[in-house]
Amino acid sequence: MIGVLGGGQLGRMLALAAARLGLDVTILTPEADAPASAVAARTLVAPYDDPAALKDMAETCRAITFEFENVPAPALETLAAMGAELAPGPRALAVAQDRFEEKSFLNAAGTPTVAFAAIDSPDDLRAALHHLHAPLLLKTRQGGYDGKGQAWVDRPDDAETAFAGLGSRPCIAEAPADFQRELAVIAARSRGGEIAVYPLTESHHENGILRRASAPARATPKTQAAAERIAATVLTALDYVGVIGIELFERDNGDLLVNEFAPRVHNTGHWTLDGCEVDQFEQHIRAVAGWPLGPTAASHHVEMTNLLGNEANDWLKFAREPETRIWLYGKREALPGRKMGHVNRLRPLERGEG
Ligand code: AMP
Repeated sequence: MIGVLGGGQLGRMLALAAARLGLDVTILTPEADAPASAVAARTLVAPYDDPAALKDMAETCRAITFEFENVPAPALETLAAMGAELAPGPRALAVAQDRFEEKSFLNAAGTPTVAFAAIDSPDDLRAALHHLHAPLLLKTRQGGYDGKGQAWVDRPDDAETAFAGLGSRPCIAEAPADFQRELAVIAARSRGGEIAVYPLTESHHENGILRRASAPARATPKTQAAAERIAATVLTALDYVGVIGIELFERDNGDLLVNEFAPRVHNTGHWTLDGCEVDQFEQHIRAVAGWPLGPTAASHHVEMTNLLGNEANDWLKFAREPETRIWLYGKREALPGRKMGHVNRLRPLERGEG
């Protein structure tokens, strides 16, 4: 039995992968009728910090992982104190939950990012606009996702409004990344320290939400090697077990900067479900369960498109396309911008791809 904190689509696809390997999953989610519950062996519906639910998980699950990185840190500490085997460990989650800690960690590990500063007041923001130069992208340190909790700031006069606009919470200000495109690398580390890296994904965002991902991305061997070095550095420095998703900016000169990493399976890795020998969800389950990692080579080129809101209603159209594989998450309500599913459109690999 593997425990998963979080019951969204990532938990659902982890539970599917686990079931195929003969493993059962218990989901802990505050949401009744969560996407993962329909396929998991067991669901505990309770807040993430519910003592009885955490005790149940610690006693019944051989290993516990998460699919949602905003799980409160004390919940993981409680699980660890009860002797639960957490993969990845609490440190990876703590670092990834705070954008300032995350960028500080990345730089200390020798991995480049944009210039940044911690912002605790409008005065800090004015000082950063002076030192790092305008414009700056102000982001909340914690809790933001899919482009939420972010605002560009151009002038010192806008500092008060911008800081208040993000709720006067601890923030980070980032210099603009002068990128030609956004890439992502999905990688995994086993309990024994073995590392496996997938081919690079090219990602396209709209309104801060991932819209499309295309993989394997066209990239020079030098760029793929640089991404592999970054992945290995981050995984090793965190003594990480499981799959990680690392978002990258490719600069005009080809250098890579890390934007952020997610300590879990990642939307930019959904293409691996139909385009790789072993997909990211099976890979994560293998790592968490203490199995050897599987091969990551691409078998197809994949264009992954997220189905947001009502777009999922077109399932019949997609079902008629022979090159299209459909993944629907079983969510009841198609709110605008909500990730309801994705499609993977396959074509054969061309020479030099993968
Ligand atoms: P994030 O929430 O950090 O993943 O940011 C969401 C999206 O905003 C990224 O995928 C980029 O498209 C854009 N973005 C984030 N940080 C920067 C930055 N420092 N400079 C330019 N664009 C950024």
